[in-house]
Amino acid sequence: MGEFELIRRFFATASCSRESEGVALGIGDDCALLQLADGEQLAVSTDTLVAGVHFPETCDPFLLGQRALAVAASDLAAMGADPLAFTLALTLPDADEAWLAAFARGLERMARGCRLTLAGGDTTRGPLCLTLTVFGRLPAGQALTRSGARPGDLLCVGGSLGDGGGALALVLGQRQAPPRVADYLLERYWAPQPQFALGRWLRGRATAALDISDGLLADVGHLARASGVAVQVERERLPLAPALLELHGREAAFGHALSGGDDYRLAFALPETYRDELQRLWPEAAVIGRVSAGSGVRLLDAAGDELPLPATGYQHF
Ligand code: ADP
Ligand code: MG
Repeated sequence: MGEFELIRRFFATASCSRESEGVALGIGDDCALLQLADGEQLAVSTDTLVAGVHFPETCDPFLLGQRALAVAASDLAAMGADPLAFTLALTLPDADEAWLAAFARGLERMARGCRLTLAGGDTTRGPLCLTLTVFGRLPAGQALTRSGARPGDLLCVGGSLGDGGGALALVLGQRQAPPRVADYLLERYWAPQPQFALGRWLRGRATAALDISDGLLADVGHLARASGVAVQVERERLPLAPALLELHGREAAFGHALSGGDDYRLAFALPETYRDELQRLWPEAAVIGRVSAGSGVRLLDAAGDELPLPATGYQHF
C-alpha cells in the first residue's frame, strides 16, 4: 500500500472528510479551502502527540484516534469557537493496516461527535507522531481569551475535575477497579468531550476562559497572569466524580483535581450576575472560587484558611 492509497483508504474516504458547511474544498488538492461568513474570525490551534511521551507506543489505536482529536478540539471550545475543520499530520513507522483502520475509526467517532471535518493533512514515515490542527469559527471580537478576568468575578469550571489524572493508574494497568469505576474514568481519559456548547454559551458572558490540560492550579495560574488578577480556589467546592472518590479516596482525589492534567474541562471567570443561569443551564459546572485584585493563585480550605499549593503541572522543558 503506497502513500496515496493509504490516504485514500483511511482518510480521504472517511465520512468525516466529506465537504461540509464551511469546508469549500477538502482533501485532494494542495490546500483545503475554509469558508467563513462576513464578520467571522478563524480560530486555529495545533497539538502534537509523540509516542513514548504523550502515549505509550503500544496504545490502542482506536482510543488514540479519539483522544488525539478530543484534546486538540478542546482548545477550540475554550475560545468559544464553533467547530469547523481539522488537519492530521501523521508520521508512522510502517503502514500497518489494522492499526490504521482502528485509528481512523477512533478519529471518525470523535470527529462526528464534535462536528469537525477532516480537511487535509500529511503522511510521512518515521517514529510514531501525530499533529492535529483544528479550526473553528467565531463572531469577530467574541473569542474567550485568558486575559479579561476582573476582580469580583466568579471562578468556575465546566465539570468534574481530576478524572484524567485519576484514570492514569488504570490506563497504565497499575490498578484495577470495578466496571462502574473503570468505565467512567477510562472514558473520561480516552474520550474527553470538548465543551463546545458551554464555550458557546460563555461567549459574551465569561470575561476569560481556558481549558484545563495541565491541571487546575497551573491553568488558572495562566488565566490569573494573563488577566493581571489573583484567583482563590476553594478546595471543598471542587466537583469530584463518585468514581474518582471511590478509586482514590478524598485526599488523593483532591490532588488529582488540583494538579493532575488531562481533564479538558473549561475553567472561566464569570460575572456574578450569571451565577443562577449557570447553575440552571449547566448543572455539572461549579463555582469554585473568586477572582480578586492582586496576583497568583491561593488555595483555601472550608474555613477559608490558606492551604499550601501542591506541585504544579507537567512541563516538557
Ligand atoms: P502535497 O504533496 O501537495 O503536500 P500530499 O501528497 O501530502 O500533498 O497529500 C495529498 C492530499 O491528501 C492533500 O490534500 C492532503 O491534505 C491530504 N492528506 C495527506 N495526508 C493526509 C492525512 N493523514 N489525513 C488527511 N488528509 C491527508
Ligand atoms: Mg504533503
